[in-house]
Amino acid sequence: MTVVNVVLIGPPGCGKGTQAVRLAERYGIPHISTGEILRGAVRAGSELGRQVADTLVKGSLVSDDLMTDLVRDRLVRPDTARGFVLDGFPRTVGQSRALDEMMGAALMIVMLIDVADAEIIRRMGTRRVCDACRLTQSVSDALHPDSEPCPYCGGNLVRRPDDEPETVRHRLATYTAYATAVIEHYRRRPWFAIVDGRQHSDQVAAAMAAHIDRLCS
Ligand code: ADP
Repeated sequence: MTVVNVVLIGPPGCGKGTQAVRLAERYGIPHISTGEILRGAVRAGSELGRQVADTLVKGSLVSDDLMTDLVRDRLVRPDTARGFVLDGFPRTVGQSRALDEMMGAALMIVMLIDVADAEIIRRMGTRRVCDACRLTQSVSDALHPDSEPCPYCGGNLVRRPDDEPETVRHRLATYTAYATAVIEHYRRRPWFAIVDGRQHSDQVAAAMAAHIDRLCS
């Protein structure tokens, strides 16, 4: 049985979520988005949700200890037996070391989706999520977003609270502050790859699949 353990890193809005969904489908493995887990907890009003709600709205980072416990618990669930796509973790060197420990000798493919800041800010202005089917998509007219219903289910396309321009700038600054060290942590490992995130999402997906298939077949 081939096990495909994939970790996607990259700035907010680089396309991690979109690519993670595609990889999860292609390899039949679960997509584990730490951001989605946290937002779900906030929506559900759970203890975890209450703990992280303020941090999420500000676009700051939840503590390494809390995130590490959350990911460790998630990665032992039986649906990860054939692998997983991890999206949103690790974000700090502390989280990277904790993940190394969790994985032990198992192969883990880390890919960075590289996109420049200016492009990120442009993309986030048009990013919306459907409040019914939760699919992330972009609206063609950022000035009149309410005029467009979700093309898949007719739901309302709404801006994620942390996609407000001020928060996006803070999230980008947070990403930049921590990412250099995370990338440095993985850079020399043979399974690490950098994918150009400015390409069409089909090309990004193809580049990732080629890298995975080279390592896993
Ligand atoms: P982004 O689009 O910024 O990549 P995510 O959906 O991955 O957004 O995460 C949303 C928010 O959840 C982050 O801004 C942060 O507050 C919190 N978060 C998610 N993953 C982590 C993590 N590994 N460590 C700390 N905070 C996290």
